[in-house]
Amino acid sequence: MAEKMVVTPWETRGEIDYDKLIKEFGTEKLAEELVKKIEKKAGKSTHFLRRKIYFSHRGLKKILEDLDNGKDFVLYTGRGPSGETHLGHLLPYLFTKYLQDAFNAKLYYELTDDEKFFTKEKLSLKECTGFAYDNALDFIACGFKSENTRIIIDTKDIGLLYPIAAKVAEKTTFSTAKAVFGFSNETNIGWIFFPAIQASVAFIESELKGKRVNCLIPCGIEQDPYWRIARDVAEKLGYPKPGAIHGKFLPGLKQGGKMSASDPSSAIWVTDSEKEVDKKIGNAFTGGRATVEEQRRLGGNPEACNVHAYYFFLFEQDDEKLARLYDDCRKGKILCGECKKDLAKRVNAFLKEHMKRREEARKHLKEYLLK
Ligand code: SF4
Repeated sequence: MAEKMVVTPWETRGEIDYDKLIKEFGTEKLAEELVKKIEKKAGKSTHFLRRKIYFSHRGLKKILEDLDNGKDFVLYTGRGPSGETHLGHLLPYLFTKYLQDAFNAKLYYELTDDEKFFTKEKLSLKECTGFAYDNALDFIACGFKSENTRIIIDTKDIGLLYPIAAKVAEKTTFSTAKAVFGFSNETNIGWIFFPAIQASVAFIESELKGKRVNCLIPCGIEQDPYWRIARDVAEKLGYPKPGAIHGKFLPGLKQGGKMSASDPSSAIWVTDSEKEVDKKIGNAFTGGRATVEEQRRLGGNPEACNVHAYYFFLFEQDDEKLARLYDDCRKGKILCGECKKDLAKRVNAFLKEHMKRREEARKHLKEYLLK
């Protein structure tokens, strides 16, 4: 039996049902009309939207209407630094990069070292902050423009965040936070206060500019509870309600669930060696048949195949080629062994380039940090 779906800001597991998540979180399905609007304004298409990898939103329509009326927006994304970076973490960065390039938008990237310290029993604050600097290199390696990007590390940049967070906290009751996040008497109070910190970044630009500036947040849908709080208090504080656009999770290499930092063997880490990548993909869960003969005769099932998912999410961005791969699998024209080998080659080439850029990023980190 499939494991029950659990999706919260701190835990994601089980078989993910995205339509159900839209209902549970109370967000809206990303309609074709909005996708077309983004792509038209951006002047270029992206497989992230064409394939509905970004599938849900909150308040996006209003932000795009405001854009029509000459009101720009800033972007805000982030990461909870609890370990090194894996391919699943790069997915929202790459989509955010598309948005930054397309709209020439300023971007805030928040590293929530405080949150990880509050929520991960085994990690010290020093370790979380250390991971924040490490994760920042992977973020920069995705090619963000330093003149348009600011990296926030919560414990370092709290001076900017705190006055805004204090205002958010004053307008948020414990009963709301409890209902949204499921806090209990056992939850530490850092964790309980943290939603105010996370919400505050959505309002930084308005605060700094002294006028209402829209904020669009590309993120995983599990982060949506934070934006509910932020949207609840925004107007009371004189800020515009932030909007969010939600992405799907890159599946893990195992059956079900997303690629997860808490299960290292389910993920491909940016620091994995070629050998490790070959081995992990070689052992990945596929939609293949038990024998070569059956695969040739009956074909595989790409829809249930994690190897195919990696092509779909990142490693085959040409729609025609992806469709051919799908058909060839269905008709038994390709076998899982060759399919996995090709994917491993692509992943290794991608990681080789990424690690080169990551090393380069070390020299430029300061240019991205908040001044
Ligand atoms: Fe998956 Fe490729 Fe095997 Fe088809 S051939 S089931 S896509 S690994």
